[in-house]
Amino acid sequence: MEKPIRNIAIIGAGPAGLMAAERLASAGHRVTVYERMASPARKFLLAGRGGLNLTHSEPLDAFLGRYREAVDWLEPALRAFPPQALRDWADELGAETFIGSSGRVFPLMMKASPLLRAWLGRLDGLGVRLASGRLWTGWDADGALMFRLANGEAETIRPDATLLALGGASWPRLGSDGGWVPLLTARDVAVSPLRPANGGFTVAWSPQMKERFVGQPLKRIVIRCAGEQAAGEAMIDADGIEGGAIYALSGTIREAIRRDGAATIDIDLRPDLSALELVTRLAKRRKGETLSNHLRKAAGLAPVAIALLRDAAGATLPAEPDALAALIKAAPLRLGAPMPIARAISTAGGIISDECDGGFMLKRLPGIFAAGEMLDWEAPTGGYLLQASFATGVAAASGIEAWLAGRA
Ligand SMILES: Cc1cc2nc3c(=O)[nH]c(=O)nc-3n(C[C@H](O)[C@H](O)[C@H](O)COP(=O)(O)OP(=O)(O)OC[C@H]3O[C@@H](n4cnc5c(N)ncnc54)[C@H](O)[C@@H]3O)c2cc1C
Repeated sequence: MEKPIRNIAIIGAGPAGLMAAERLASAGHRVTVYERMASPARKFLLAGRGGLNLTHSEPLDAFLGRYREAVDWLEPALRAFPPQALRDWADELGAETFIGSSGRVFPLMMKASPLLRAWLGRLDGLGVRLASGRLWTGWDADGALMFRLANGEAETIRPDATLLALGGASWPRLGSDGGWVPLLTARDVAVSPLRPANGGFTVAWSPQMKERFVGQPLKRIVIRCAGEQAAGEAMIDADGIEGGAIYALSGTIREAIRRDGAATIDIDLRPDLSALELVTRLAKRRKGETLSNHLRKAAGLAPVAIALLRDAAGATLPAEPDALAALIKAAPLRLGAPMPIARAISTAGGIISDECDGGFMLKRLPGIFAAGEMLDWEAPTGGYLLQASFATGVAAASGIEAWLAGRA
């Protein structure tokens, strides 16, 4: 017997929603993707400006570990649509990928627009309708989905199944602003508060640091906090510090701040040298040489790193090689608060796992599914965010198929 064609509404034209649309349209369903912005996938396009780190090549077990507390929840979706499946998908769309030196996976073109163009062409060929300029505002009293159009008009629809793929709340000007939270909590769906993830933190810099070093990077450092560490770069910002090494520990730092009101990280400015090697180098100071020059030459520190040491030490830097070496290996920096979510790369918090069944359907709202960053998981940068968004889009599409089949 032929299976009936169903009308499926997907709200949110980001990676999660579009991937689910592809799966469901390929299975023969009539799919419409509703999007508030005038064009789809704005955040995906922005991610492309940084090279579009699609996923990561590390072994799957290590990969899964990046989702920490959410690993058990996401694992089935990530195993069903693992990094290699995402790479194959991109290849088929003409965006062949490569593994960078850090193990991160990028398209050879290092941008999102050609991949998105090919993808939208494929979706069009599958009959997916893209209804842009439509802001989802909730359900009416009869349970129909309500949309507000750019001209102020309202529209209601009654699909056979709905996927919410509305993203988190970072970079709200790209469309995802977390405006869905009250719409779901009003229906008793539990949502963990949206918080910045992969973002910077405020620092009360000294006037010297603010005047001379804003915008300068601390390169090849290691940051430690609460027994964890991350290597990479950090950037001095007028109000604080951000960058890859900070983002990698942002969940740990954020929770420490939530618990204690502030967090102190230790910055190793020369992780390639042992404290002993530094002491040996610093012991040979030429007569009359300033301490800054000595640190620059003997310890190979950039002026911004020396300024950071001065901020860490208070007013005066110690002159003794032992104390200086110890400071270079672990310069303490007190972080005040996370930078606003609007500036973060991604969002922690979202619909909690208990609210979803194995097919990502909301248990309290039969026929309504959710995928992508609006779910309560977080991960570091490195391709883990897009991978989980795509994989949960695939899994929710399977969930919708199974649910509709059960109602045939
Ligand atoms: C600067 C930056 C760089 C990034 N780089 C990377 C990277 O290199 N690698 C990586 O893995 N991740 C990266 N990310 C994160 C990644 O882009 C997101 O995790 C991913 O886009 C989330 O996908 P999503 O489909 O869940 O949500 P989104 O991409 O946010 O899409 C949700 C869509 O829903 C729409 N929407 C929201 N509310 C409504 C509503 N009420 N009505 C109708 N439509 C609505 C939005 O307009 C949006 O188009 C980056 C993020 C940023 C900000």
